[in-house]
Amino acid sequence: MQNQAAPTSAIYFAPLLPWQSTLWEQMTTRAQHPDKPLPHAMLAAGMSGLGKRAFIWRLTAWLLCNQRGNHPMGACGHCESCHWLKSGTHPNLQVLPRASLPCDPQEPVTTTNDDSSKKVTKPKDSTIKVDDIRAIQPFIYQGGQGLKICVIDNAEQMTIAAANALLKTLEEPQSFVHLLLITDFKAKLLPTINSRLQQLPIQRIDPEVALDFVQRSLGGVIQKEAVNSAQIQQLLTISRGAPLSAMTLAQSPWYGKRALWLTTWQALFSNKRSAIAASDYWQKEVSLTDFIQLSELMIGDIQSCLLSLPVLQQDIDFQSVLQHHQPSFDDISALLSELNAIKIALQQNVQEKVAYDKLMAQLAAF
Ligand SMILES: [Zn+2]
Repeated sequence: MQNQAAPTSAIYFAPLLPWQSTLWEQMTTRAQHPDKPLPHAMLAAGMSGLGKRAFIWRLTAWLLCNQRGNHPMGACGHCESCHWLKSGTHPNLQVLPRASLPCDPQEPVTTTNDDSSKKVTKPKDSTIKVDDIRAIQPFIYQGGQGLKICVIDNAEQMTIAAANALLKTLEEPQSFVHLLLITDFKAKLLPTINSRLQQLPIQRIDPEVALDFVQRSLGGVIQKEAVNSAQIQQLLTISRGAPLSAMTLAQSPWYGKRALWLTTWQALFSNKRSAIAASDYWQKEVSLTDFIQLSELMIGDIQSCLLSLPVLQQDIDFQSVLQHHQPSFDDISALLSELNAIKIALQQNVQEKVAYDKLMAQLAAF
């Protein structure tokens, strides 16, 4: 997610995510062998929830750590470099945009989680401009002591001019500087930038490792209910295999309300409940953003059912509802378009209640 809150310094020293252990070993082994050094410019790309940022910040801390030779599994946490990281004042680290710097002393951090369901203040302008790239160039080109690292988060947010300015830097690699780029949207990067970056194989996740991690991390319960491996598998399927997204989903306020969504829809199309009453009820349950996410998941599975395709949610009985009422494919695409329109409207500060009422009226006619 682009608008996630900056993490605290704990992210530099967090445990290694289990599906990243091979990559960690490869990177750290290379960093210690001058005959096959780490590439100057690397890219961590892939959908949200893979742990790209967790890996990059950990690697950054370790590369900068003065004691890394004695601490192969991660930065020591005690040396001068690690202390600088904790205080957000490391002289050998530059981060773009500034908001992505974990633990920024100039801006008190509010939250640490990666939970997209929570409301996070969205930066007004998240683009990375040519002046931002120019501002880090003295850091890259001036000498100094030790390794220097520049992290560019949400790299797809670079303007064309910024990307071209960065391109010049990529064409003239400096021996003690590493550029680490992160993006959730690799296709939006300029191909010329892409071709000069070494892409980290961050998307390779063993499904069994992911399953085990999510199961252990959730402690066998989701929203106080015992959870089995089929339920964990379902969370991972819905999250397209991204373990951190699966955990966010399990803990989201709306995931446990999927059966309730179906009950509401049933009550609406059979005229047992008015759209206004349903809207009033749901406004007290979850935010509109959550309700939209919930609706998208439910509508997706309704569509699959109607096409006799496998559904993502094995624990919901769609058939018993659909035997009473079947929306047309035109209805489905109209409702999905409406959901998109409301998402855009929400970014423009449309009143949530008005949008909720409108959406519920659409659902009643669905
Ligand atoms: Zn250290």
